Parts: sequence; C-alpha cells; structure tokens
Amino acid sequence: MSQPQQFASDNYAGICPEAWEAMASANNGGAPAYGEDEWTARAADAFRALFKTDCEVFFVFNGTAANSLALASLCQSYHSVICSDAAHVETDECGAPEFFSNGSKLLVAPSVDGKLTPDAVRLLASNRSDIHYPKPRVVTITQPTETGQIYSADELKALSAVCREFGLSLHMDGARFANACAGLQCDPADITWKAGVDVLCFGGTKNGMAVGEAIVFFNKALAEDFAYRCKQAGQLASKMRFLAAPWIRMLEGGAWLRNAEHGNRCARRLAEGVAALPQVALICPVEANAVFLQMPEAMMSGLRDKGWRFYTFIGGGARFMFAWDSQIARVDELVSDIKALARSA
Ligand SMILES: *Cc1c(COP(=O)(O)O)cnc(C)c1O
Repeated sequence: MSQPQQFASDNYAGICPEAWEAMASANNGGAPAYGEDEWTARAADAFRALFKTDCEVFFVFNGTAANSLALASLCQSYHSVICSDAAHVETDECGAPEFFSNGSKLLVAPSVDGKLTPDAVRLLASNRSDIHYPKPRVVTITQPTETGQIYSADELKALSAVCREFGLSLHMDGARFANACAGLQCDPADITWKAGVDVLCFGGTKNGMAVGEAIVFFNKALAEDFAYRCKQAGQLASKMRFLAAPWIRMLEGGAWLRNAEHGNRCARRLAEGVAALPQVALICPVEANAVFLQMPEAMMSGLRDKGWRFYTFIGGGARFMFAWDSQIARVDELVSDIKALARSA
C-alpha cells in the first residue's frame, strides 16, 4: 500500500494528527448546521486571538473559492484587480475570480519573483482613468509567493501605502500563510492588518487539514453579505463544524506554526544539501517550503527514473514542496539521488 513519500506538492500530505483528532472530537453527537454550532464560533474567536484584533471570519472548502469570493466582495463587475503574473488567481483558478465577480478583470503585472512592487501597482493603477478601462479597485498578493518568496512587513507596508493612495483594497492569498509566519518568525498581525491588509485567505489544507480555508476580513465593512456569496457559490458547509474544529485545535495548540516550520526546515535541508553541486542551481531563494531546482534535462529524467515525482510547469525547473509530514530521511534520499546523478552527469 504505502509508496515512498513524494514532494511534488504540499497537497500530497495527509491530515495532521491535531486536525484529525479535532474532527473526531467534533463527531460526538449532533450539532446545529450551517455554522450555527459552537465550534464555528470558537474557531472565529481563535482567529481573533491569533491576530489580536476583531475580524470577521468565514470558512470555505478550498483556496480557489476563498480567493474568488473574497475578491468578488471587494469589487464591482466593472472594477479590476491588480496581481502579479505568477499569481494563483491568474494562472491556476480557471477564471474563477472573474466568474464570481461577474467579470472584474485581472490586471497582470510582470514580476521577477512573483512579488508585486509598489511601482508596479502604481503603474497599473495610474495607467488609465478613462471610462473605457476597468477601474482598478483591488490589489491581490500571495504570501508567500507561488515560488516561495516572502514579503517582509516593510514591503507590505509600502504596498498598502500605494493602495491607500489610489483607493485600492489589499487582499492576501495566504494559501501558505503559516509558512510565511514561520519564515519571518513574526507575529501574524505584523504582516496582515498592521501592515494594511484588508482581507486574508488563510490556507488550512496545505497546513495539514483535510479541507478548508478561512477568509479573514480585518476590514469588517467589506464582509457585508459575504455569507450569501458563500452559499450561492456552493461553499456554505452544512456540517460546518468539521471545517471549523481543526482550526480551533491547530491555532490554539500551535500546530499551524509547527507544521509550517517543519515544511520550511525540510526545504532548507534540500537546498543546503544540493548547494555545492555545480550542475544544480536554485531558481529562487528558499524562504518558505518550496525549492525550485534548475538542472540538466538528463538529471531531471534520471530523477524520474529513480521514481521521484515533481512538476516543472510552475517557476521552471523541478519543484519540490514540503509539508507537515515530510520525512527528513526521505529529504536526505532526494539529496543523495541528486548528488549521484550530478556525479555521473
Ligand atoms: C494551493 C493554492 C491555492 C488554493 O488552491 P485550491 O486548490 O483551490 O485549494 C491558492 N493560492 C495559492 C498560491 C496556492 O498555492
């Protein structure tokens, strides 16, 4: 049954023990449906405690819905959303942000490492102001980026200052938000509301849950009628307690951060393990749980022949992603397989 572990995606991981136990303990008799249960209220409180602020919290099944519905709530159909060319909302959501916003256009900025810069935002926000162009209304950033780079608190503040200048809301796709907090070793508040983020989509799935993302509105006015959007989009869980209970256990017990720290540690281990090889280069700096390796085609097919699975369509090169359950011994096996291939290359 059990195959050797793969690092092709952090979604290959199973459910972490804390999330699993929390679901089991919520499975003790019946409870009110559609989020009227005590777990859902407590999970929202756990977010308020984590971020040390009042906020509105919603739970949906996946990240595409979280991002799309959050963005839809920030703009009208004639508005536009500024994002980087590497953004998940642009490249991997099948047009869902445009669909759920009834046509709000994504304005894509070229970027070096998936990061939006204040200048790029300013350029797109001030490019046109005539009636024929969709009016810029929102900026969305991914923290950490799709290739694993982290915005510092100062970078975020610089971005939100430009947003304020142009009357734009700031949305953060935090599918791997925990990995950013672990990488920066910072207070989650410092890289969200204190830095000017209006809405955060906080990923639970890649952090170790079976399923579920939280949408956290720091700007509570923007959350008006959001529950209706979730329902209309088929994202209002009837047995909401099973989406909510894992958050309580993971936020209160710290597993959200430990899981991310472990993923980040494994990524550093791979990066350090291959650093001395002249045939292998890091495509981007390793700041979170992702490693992108450039290597000769023959080495990549050699790795595949040895049974390793990895994707090459994101960021170029071979992508390896680490999660809460990544086995250190298996990371070391990957390093030694890459080393062996480099010797014979
Ligand atoms: C995984 C991911 C998502 C969410 O994807 P779903 O498959 O819809 O859950 C969103 N943004 C980024 C950057 C991701 O990596």
